[in-house]
Amino acid sequence: MAWTNSKDSALRERAQAVIPNGMYGHQSVMLMPDDYPQFFSRAEGAHLWDVDGNRYVDFMCGYGPNLFGYANPTIDQAYFDRAKLGDTMTGPGEEMVLLAEAMTKQVTHADWAMFCKNGTDATTMALMIARNHTRKSTILVAKGAYHGAAPWCTPLKNGTTPSDRANQIFYDYNDVDSLEAAVRAAGTDLAAIFASPIKHDTFIDQELPNPAYARRARELCDEHGALLIVDDVRAGFRLARDCSWALVGVQPDLSSWGKAIANGHPISALLGSNVARAAAGGIYVTGSYWFSAAPMAASLVTLKMIAETDYLERTIALGERLRAGLNESATRNGFALRQTGPAQMPLIMFDDDDSHAKGYLWNSAMMKRGVYFHPWHNMFICAAMTEADIDEALNAADDAFKVVRQSGPLGPVEKLSFLSRAMEGA
Ligand SMILES: *Cc1c(COP(=O)(O)O)cnc(C)c1O
Repeated sequence: MAWTNSKDSALRERAQAVIPNGMYGHQSVMLMPDDYPQFFSRAEGAHLWDVDGNRYVDFMCGYGPNLFGYANPTIDQAYFDRAKLGDTMTGPGEEMVLLAEAMTKQVTHADWAMFCKNGTDATTMALMIARNHTRKSTILVAKGAYHGAAPWCTPLKNGTTPSDRANQIFYDYNDVDSLEAAVRAAGTDLAAIFASPIKHDTFIDQELPNPAYARRARELCDEHGALLIVDDVRAGFRLARDCSWALVGVQPDLSSWGKAIANGHPISALLGSNVARAAAGGIYVTGSYWFSAAPMAASLVTLKMIAETDYLERTIALGERLRAGLNESATRNGFALRQTGPAQMPLIMFDDDDSHAKGYLWNSAMMKRGVYFHPWHNMFICAAMTEADIDEALNAADDAFKVVRQSGPLGPVEKLSFLSRAMEGA
């Protein structure tokens, strides 16, 4: 069946009338290559169907929540069973305690847990707890790191005030000198250092954490009585069955979680060590849906699968198969790729493609061949993927390289012109 997008186009046109810009936020395809579908009808395992019935091997995994496959029967059964008995009630179910026990058992640094809905809830709570614990204001954040969409951290400043973003100092990820300079600039007012577990910023190569940087962040927090916060919302349980910085031997005081912890059911969490327990008990945070029992029931099953299955090793092996196959195919077609980050969270860009023109054409050709890739955001491998899915992606990639090779000279991607303007301004 040939790829079509007539129903998607019609919905996008109707959306323009009743939704600002037709769509907003990270799932808007406004900055994706032309023709990327905006609306989807179904998802199962590693596959996704758009409203026109086109099927994709999905390498975005809902931007992170899909860890064990869409519509995982075991996880979803726990969700549905709990929802039938009672979900959002006047108080939580017993699952809240069971889940706090399970999370603190799974994550080494954690002695307690608080649950919320979005990753932004968890990172914002971390910020408040650090300020309450230290009675200080300044937080250090790596330049370009994403910690959510509240006024203190949303990437686009429109609608925020300088005071929303006050008391923040930016440092360069993985750069000890830059981190130390930021700590000096904070003087006697340091409340916390925020760190992404890996550098997973958009549009640029990913970086694994340099252990010297991670250790220095820990030491600096200890010297100043500040809290170290690892934002594991995106990478949590994709790199390790523990907080991601367990891989570099560094334990934070607080870690924020979301996305994959209930395989797509809405719940996020903030985990903390005993040092931050009193301060966590002293802030007022809540939400109408934060105590819903059904996502907690789904999360309990997800955590059991994290503890008991080989999902992590499988996603790494599949990611490595993809990485090796793409390199081989790129070379054969006369291209060089930059594949960065952990194999199971790949970011793939063309070398010598600052304008992203090759990347856009290649991703677009992949999409029309049934493989959903992203040109400038890290992707994800889920445990429901098979070697056949990877090989399907490799076949599409090989065809897509030929499309780029045969295209002749490419102009810059117009919709990304703000990027070059931002770079000139920097
Ligand atoms: C997605 C994300 C967040 C925000 O999570 P939401 O659920 O979208 O609020 C925070 N930090 C990181 C690293 C993320 O990837």
